[in-house]
Amino acid sequence: MELLKGKPAADKINERTAAMAQELLSKDIVPTLAILRVGSNPSDMAYEENAVKKAKSLGIHVEKYIMDIKSDESDVLDVLKIINDDENIHGVLMFRPLPKGIDEDRVRNHLSPAKDVDGITDAALGGLFTGNMGGFPPCTAEAAMTILKFYGIELAGKKAVVIGRSLVVGKPVAMMLMAENATVTVCHSRTPKEDLQASCLDADIIICATGKLNTLTEDCVNGKQVVIDVGINFDEEGKMCGDADFEAVKEEVKAITPVPGGVGGVTTALLMHHTVAAAKASHNA
Ligand code: NAP
Repeated sequence: MELLKGKPAADKINERTAAMAQELLSKDIVPTLAILRVGSNPSDMAYEENAVKKAKSLGIHVEKYIMDIKSDESDVLDVLKIINDDENIHGVLMFRPLPKGIDEDRVRNHLSPAKDVDGITDAALGGLFTGNMGGFPPCTAEAAMTILKFYGIELAGKKAVVIGRSLVVGKPVAMMLMAENATVTVCHSRTPKEDLQASCLDADIIICATGKLNTLTEDCVNGKQVVIDVGINFDEEGKMCGDADFEAVKEEVKAITPVPGGVGGVTTALLMHHTVAAAKASHNA
């Protein structure tokens, strides 16, 4: 089994990002990412802390917009307007899901497409479906694809199974795999377990993105699969783990990403890279 660590792929992206950021800074342009968080979800805050550290190390400035959990839709839209109107802000990371009662579809589509560095607006997602990608793709889906490409995993003509169909990971990654000429099957919570198992056993590549412990078990693999585990879960002991039953699955697959140490770091690296690219584009630099 080959362990597909995210760090070497992330390091390569970060190196390019730091060089681009330095070039912008030399022209007095400070690449800036706004973080918009409503409430204090501990896993959002943990991700935020890492993102802030990473941004700083790359020469990217971060502005935090932290809102009370009781904020309503118009409060969030007001803050989004401030962010959209601020020409010194180049990209936005908005934590989701937003609190109940806020129409997330409406809010995410208020974000200026030029600042949509995590591909959350319909404009960005639509580009993935039509193949006319004007904006940035969603970072997590792109991170899964980046790892596959970094490790030279062949995609054309291969059978890929995506488990999960969210707009954040499942749907965009399925479109990206199809664009690379893989034959794609998408499974979700209504897929009977035996169908999911049969699809996985027949697959060359499995992308698992459910946020449910042990979605991918030993009986779903037979030695030929490359597994990209996107999930972030915590076991009974509070240890971070993915969607795959890693210890049982690892000896029965061709390759697998660890959690932590897999997709997460590449996602952050891509978010930073998109931010610097957005800064460069907005100043024609
Ligand atoms: P989500 O919006 O909750 O979507 C989960 C998807 O998984 C849904 O489509 C759901 O099906 C499906 N699903 C749930 N249980 C399933 C099961 N037992 N069998 C098959 N499919 C099942 O989550 P998300 O935003 O896509 O995130 C997925 C995971 O990735 C989470 O653990 C999240 O924390 C993680 N994540 C990681 C990164 C990173 O950088 N590593 C970034 C973002 C997210 P239905 O559509 O039928 O409900």
